[in-house]
Amino acid sequence: MRKKANVAALRHRMVAEQIRGRGIRDPRILQAIESIPRHLFVPDANPADAYRDGPLPIGLGQTISQPFITAYMTQLLRPRPEHRILEVGTGSGYQAALLSLLCGQVYTIEIISNHHARAGKLLAKLKYTNVHLRLGDGQVGWPEEAPFNGIIVTAAARVSPPPSLSAQLADGGRLVIPVGRSLYDQQLMFYTRRANQIIAQEDMAVRFVPILSGKPGREA
Ligand code: SAH
Repeated sequence: MRKKANVAALRHRMVAEQIRGRGIRDPRILQAIESIPRHLFVPDANPADAYRDGPLPIGLGQTISQPFITAYMTQLLRPRPEHRILEVGTGSGYQAALLSLLCGQVYTIEIISNHHARAGKLLAKLKYTNVHLRLGDGQVGWPEEAPFNGIIVTAAARVSPPPSLSAQLADGGRLVIPVGRSLYDQQLMFYTRRANQIIAQEDMAVRFVPILSGKPGREA
């Protein structure tokens, strides 16, 4: 009981200081973050670390993003309850859980089988039932379920978004993705589809692990 109260207090403080305190004002996003037990998504970390202001390792060289970045990218997507969203890079499943509370259906692809399996179990256990998971290379998107109102990529592309992803955007849909050749030279980009045009906008500097290519597997 005591532990439960503690994590709720940590989470409340995280939202106040790191999320609302830095300008995220969408009440739906704030409320959703307030409700998700983030510490369960980083089981190897101390619960207090899960609510700290930074990224954290989730194993096999991958990281769960800083809470603010997750909230910020979510806000850029402008999620609505009727939206169908694609995520590339399931990782811990935390971003997918957040989107599941804000959108109709969430499709998420992960290339590392351990992460795919672990996230799937946790999301099912916590009853985020509108999240659909696939093991595979997210750079090809999920054509059977396209078009998407939003696509979020949580690993960095080197030069530009994979063309299959922009092709799977619905009219008016947004694609949010970090782009850059190295860890120290990445911009968060967002692209909006207007009929056959894709309009690019540059946002802030970020640091994400690179998108992996190849066959899905344990150690991609
Ligand atoms: N969104 C995650 C954090 C992602 S870290 C969260 O909320 O925890 C980036 C993830 O992208 C890693 O798990 C990595 O394995 C995965 N990834 C990298 N390249 C990929 C690809 N081509 N297709 C799908 N997933 C990929």
